[in-house]
Amino acid sequence: MTKPIEVRNPRTGKFDYVIIPPPSKLLVQQCKRTRRAQVRWQQLGLEGRIEALQQWKQAILSGRDRLTEALVNDTGRLSISVLEIDSFLSSIDRWCRLAPELLQESAKNTAIPFIALQQTSVPYPLVGIISPWNFPLLLSTIDTIPALLAGCAVIVKPSEIAPRFVAPMITALNAVPKLHDVLTFVEGEGATGSLLIENVDLVCFTGSVATGRKVAEAAAKRFIPAFLELGGKDPAIVLESANLELATSAILWGSVVNTGQSCLSIERIYVAESIFEKFYHQLVAKAHRLQLAYPTIESGEIGPIIAERQAAIISDHLQDAVEKGAVIHCGGVIEDLGGGWWCRPTVLTQVNHSMKVMTEETFGPIMPVMPFSRVEEAVSLANDSIYGLSAAVFASEAEALEVAYQIDAGAISINDAGLTAMIHEGEKNSFKFSGLGGSRMGAAALKRFMRKKAILMKTNATNDPWWFENGE
Ligand code: NAD
Repeated sequence: MTKPIEVRNPRTGKFDYVIIPPPSKLLVQQCKRTRRAQVRWQQLGLEGRIEALQQWKQAILSGRDRLTEALVNDTGRLSISVLEIDSFLSSIDRWCRLAPELLQESAKNTAIPFIALQQTSVPYPLVGIISPWNFPLLLSTIDTIPALLAGCAVIVKPSEIAPRFVAPMITALNAVPKLHDVLTFVEGEGATGSLLIENVDLVCFTGSVATGRKVAEAAAKRFIPAFLELGGKDPAIVLESANLELATSAILWGSVVNTGQSCLSIERIYVAESIFEKFYHQLVAKAHRLQLAYPTIESGEIGPIIAERQAAIISDHLQDAVEKGAVIHCGGVIEDLGGGWWCRPTVLTQVNHSMKVMTEETFGPIMPVMPFSRVEEAVSLANDSIYGLSAAVFASEAEALEVAYQIDAGAISINDAGLTAMIHEGEKNSFKFSGLGGSRMGAAALKRFMRKKAILMKTNATNDPWWFENGE
């Protein structure tokens, strides 16, 4: 029997849920069983797999209330949980619609007329998915759906900080026997994730850089692909030509939605010095209008900080900034309300790159604003980071495009924020320490679960010109 893990409720601070990680032996057996079942799943063909996924979707819809309740208890937020479930369900439809074209195989001519090529792809048998707590459902399923459609079997290890949503997902899975054998959720902490990597054929990891490094090392030892989606410190650059009203609204949303607990949150803002004062006054005024979703969950826009350890990180970054001369204009404290940790939208000025709040991932609703005098300086500040997840630029279209091309990040939103979370077509890589491996967006998101296989066939009955002349 493994040690039970108690799970904290982010609104009450009470440990009101328990998970029990599987003993190592059982997990290894589970991986073997799931890999064996993959053969039938692949043989089922794409149509059969689509049908099974649609049945799962229907089963989830029938138990939607329970799933919502679990996710709300995991994250302490309501509207975003509803959105998360909607996005997950629509991703099933989207991938079911796209997969037939993406998985089409074809015969091709080669440069040599008597050699025919059949280009095929073979799924990795067993994919392991390890996910974080900030969007527990979405980030456990974002890679799962395309992997399943590609023909892989999948074992998901969600975060131990927000695991309540797993039970209703399993209930829905039980209604779809064909899928039940090839999709499993296992509960546990790092040790369970680490053992999973030892027993799968490909790993998709979403989480911190520190853990990502361990995952990459473990996968490298086994020569299995590791797709890593890690942290970020997304910059926003606001040029003089920007529409200020639009920029402040978009940046506020992009920084504090989900209480800033999003990998692609805007975490640092560089503003042309000619509009700097006006910009931050407007941002502060708009930030003041947002309310905590407390005491009732239906009220306000800002939910609690989900992971207790994150509250300490936010607090540390704020303290470090103030000690080095930053000025806080609103928010700026971690409040203990009803046992949960809360932080109101916080605007800081007098910031610089000696501060953690400008260089390390804060993962909170914190908006440090820094002026720049020349566009080149803004680009250089934006690129002065170990991260390269995404970024935003606010300016006239031509100017913004010129800046966008110079930013070292995988996705750039122009005159908007976080677009890569909404627009699934745009393929992107995570630059620098923000990740490794193929794009999780666009067609590549599905194709990366397949290994390419070239079947080359000689179609004539004469000796090839490169054979030994005397070798008949
Ligand atoms: P984390 O790295 O602490 O944990 C992520 C997952 O890894 C958890 O399920 C955890 O149990 C597991 N884990 C821990 N040690 C492991 C090990 N040695 N081997 C295998 N698995 C292990 O991250 P977190 O705090 O849960 O999530 C927050 C981080 O995730 C932030 O840095 C955020 O930026 C990042 N994130 C990135 C994206 C993206 O798409 N780039 C999206 C969301 C979150």
